[in-house]
Amino acid sequence: MTRNSEEVLEQILQSNELPTLPVVASKLLTITAKEETTLTDIANLITRDVALSSKVLRVSNSSFYSFPQQIATINQAVSILGTNAVRSLVLSFSFLNLRSKNSSPRFQFNTFWEESVICATAAKLILEQLNDVSTEEIFISGLLNNLGKLIFATTLPAEYDKVLAKLEENPEIDEEIIEKKIIGLSHSVVGYEAAKAWGFPDSLLLPIKYAHAPEEYDGQDTNLELNIRAIYLAQLLTRIYYSQKPEQYHKLFRKKAKKLLSLNPLVINTILRQLDREIDKSADFFNIKIHNIKSVAEILQEANLRLSLLNLSYEEMNRELIKAKMELENLTDELAQKNALLENLANIDSLTEINNHRFFHNFLDTEINRSIRNNSTISILLADIDHFKQFNDTYGHQVGDFILKEFCRVAKENIREYDLIARYGGEEFVFVLPETEPEEAMLAAEKIRTIINDYDFDDRERTYKLTISIGVASARPESKDFSKNDFINLADNALYEAKAAGRNKTVLYSPKKKKWFKL
Ligand code: GH3
Ligand code: MG
Ligand code: MG
Repeated sequence: MTRNSEEVLEQILQSNELPTLPVVASKLLTITAKEETTLTDIANLITRDVALSSKVLRVSNSSFYSFPQQIATINQAVSILGTNAVRSLVLSFSFLNLRSKNSSPRFQFNTFWEESVICATAAKLILEQLNDVSTEEIFISGLLNNLGKLIFATTLPAEYDKVLAKLEENPEIDEEIIEKKIIGLSHSVVGYEAAKAWGFPDSLLLPIKYAHAPEEYDGQDTNLELNIRAIYLAQLLTRIYYSQKPEQYHKLFRKKAKKLLSLNPLVINTILRQLDREIDKSADFFNIKIHNIKSVAEILQEANLRLSLLNLSYEEMNRELIKAKMELENLTDELAQKNALLENLANIDSLTEINNHRFFHNFLDTEINRSIRNNSTISILLADIDHFKQFNDTYGHQVGDFILKEFCRVAKENIREYDLIARYGGEEFVFVLPETEPEEAMLAAEKIRTIINDYDFDDRERTYKLTISIGVASARPESKDFSKNDFINLADNALYEAKAAGRNKTVLYSPKKKKWFKL
């Protein structure tokens, strides 16, 4: 360090504007550095700050740790997650709450916190892809990587504003070079020295110093080395979010991820795909607002479009923009249609193309709720083809299938638009008739039964005759002892009676005990 940079550092560390760590965080650093400190000492210290404790517990129990067991107290957090993990959480909250009155006019606090959270999240996501690495301290290390910038902005606002002005002019230039030129020090050195003065341990200090040039770290601690490399890579990912040329950082990230951590393309793609969702989660856990966080793919796509627009005339550009917008809209429409189709397929019986059992239950649930609201009667019919086994045995399964399809077509034509017909199973069909009294339900059932009785099923080879039996039940679901399953069972019992009475019959369930049953 030159004489000049030592003086600047001294000035910064002595400055009244230097952000200070909250007392709990600072004490925690002191006691965790001592060997005789027990887990209880640590827990007691944190517990004294109620707001902090509740934040630590919230994150301890979130998917940030995905710990299967409920962590109820700070004591448990310390013993289950470990001292370092809990200390990291306390420091993360403390860092994200550092505030200052004065700063460079160009320094954007919001962007600073955003950038820090993105970098920390990315570093954590990257390190989690490796085996046998401790990820306890990576998040706070990723946050601290930016500490020097905050310190510059608050202790040397005028000088740092010049740095920011230069960066505005030339965004892709290495910011550490500009910092050294204008201030005499880089933010990684300042962050390192300030954190050292605050009593941070080496495991947190060294990443601040080396994350900008990971290959300069020549220590023996492999875990630390991997942490440093992950933060370096996380900075490249963060640049994707803020640079005008995201594709350059994307390319560099892929290259360096392979070189520094031997990540293969599959793992790299996983990181890129998950990043925006993880950032969203971190922002939520630490209560930092991050607006409109996009996926890396989306950012690269937009950059690509911008690039292709650069060489066009105004009219061409307009045309291209309109085209791109239309393509996007078409894509969205197509997606919505496909989703609707899929949703639909899940509700349709493939043979008969009417709704299936699953849909019947959903529909009935909805209609029961509507009946409760409207105080109305709902009816169901269970229809079963008579002697269908024998029919199959005589004419073959394919003719049987034809009958099932044809039955559905005919039945569907003979119910109200709002009524539902669904395949209940095999050769059984269920009809749901909302707002239908038992007398009307019986009429509807009789109508279907006689139509089938008279119908000539014609498969162009010959005609076939068939009959069905129907069980009918009606109910007022607002009655307090109403049960959906009982309701369906009543229709089933009625169907059984129709079969027992000789088939080709319609039977209305006659209630003896159920009050809600409507006759
Ligand atoms: P019952 O009058 O008592 O209802 O007599 P059944 O023969 O109709 O009743 P059972 O439950 O004994 O047999 C139902 C038959 O329905 C058995 C099976 O061959 C036929 N079946 C069920 N699903 C299908 C299907 O998808 N296609 C065809 N072709 N037949 C089916
Ligand atoms: Mg049957
Ligand atoms: Mg049958």
